[in-house]
Amino acid sequence: MDLFDLHCDTLTSCCNKGLSLAENELEISLQKGSYLERWAQCFAVFVPDELRGEAAYDYYRRAVDYYRAQAAPPLLREGAEMAALRRGERRLCPILTVEGGAVLAGRLERIQTLAEDGVQMLTITWNGENELGWGISENRGLKPLGREAVREMERWGILPDVSHLSQWGFYDLAAVAEGPIVASHSNAKALCNHPRNLTDEQFAVIRDRGGLVGLNYNQGFLREDGPATPDDIAEHALHFLALGGEKTLALGSDFDGAEMPQQLPDIAALPALADAMARRGIGPQQIQAIFFDNAADFFERRLSSF
Ligand SMILES: [Zn+2]
Repeated sequence: MDLFDLHCDTLTSCCNKGLSLAENELEISLQKGSYLERWAQCFAVFVPDELRGEAAYDYYRRAVDYYRAQAAPPLLREGAEMAALRRGERRLCPILTVEGGAVLAGRLERIQTLAEDGVQMLTITWNGENELGWGISENRGLKPLGREAVREMERWGILPDVSHLSQWGFYDLAAVAEGPIVASHSNAKALCNHPRNLTDEQFAVIRDRGGLVGLNYNQGFLREDGPATPDDIAEHALHFLALGGEKTLALGSDFDGAEMPQQLPDIAALPALADAMARRGIGPQQIQAIFFDNAADFFERRLSSF
C-alpha cells in the first residue's frame, strides 16, 4: 500500500513530549508506517495560537532542529527525490510543512529561511488571528502583510495552504495567489457544516487551479452528529469526486492533532479506509490516486519546476 499524507501533527507532538519519531505511542511513527511500500508524509510544525512574535519562530526552529536530530530520512527538497519515491527507489519521503503563519513573526524575510529549511506548505493562519490574517470565526480575511506573504511564498516555492482560513481569507488568498492552492486537511461543508470545511465553490477554485485537497479524518469535520467512521471519509471523497475532483483529492489525516474514528486509530489502520472507499464503489485506480498518485504527481511536477 502507498500513502501520501498532506498533514499530521506528529512532529510537534514528538518535540513537545520528547518522543522519538521512529518509535512512539502516537498515531504516526516511522515504525507504524513501515508496512507502507511508498510513503510521503507531510510533518507540520503546528504553531499554537498562544505564541506570537519571535516566540512563534523559536518554537518552529526547535521543532525543525528536533526533526534533524531524529533517526529519520532527510526532509524532501527536490523533485528527483519524489521521482525516486514514485519509482520505488526510496520508500519514505518526509516533507516539512508549517501550520500557522505566525511562524514568520511578521517578518517576510523569514519566508526565505523557511524555504531553505525545506518547508513546502504554509497555512496563513491557524484558528486565531495572527500577523498575516484574521481568525477563522471572523468575517475578515487576509491582512495586507498576509497578501504580501502569499506573493513571497510563491516566489520561494512555498505553497499557500488554505486549511484553517475563513471563507474571507480563502478568497483573499485566491485573489493574490498565482499558482495552485492546497487545502491540506479539510473536508466538504455540504456533508458537515463546519467552518474548517470547504464549500463546493471553494473546492472548484482549488480544482481549477490544479491544487490538492487532503481529506481530514477528524470526527468533527466528518459528520455533525455522532461518531464518524471510515465510511464517512469515503462519503466526503465521493462528494468531491462528483465535483470533478479525480485529480484533486488526496489525504490529510490530521493524525496526532485530532479525534480519530475508532476504526482508524493510527496509520497502521489505513487499509480500513481503502476498504471503506472500495465498499462505497470507488475504483482501485481512483483509490490509488487519492492515497498517493495525485499528491505525488503534483509535488514531483512542482518541485521539478523550481
Ligand atoms: Zn489543522
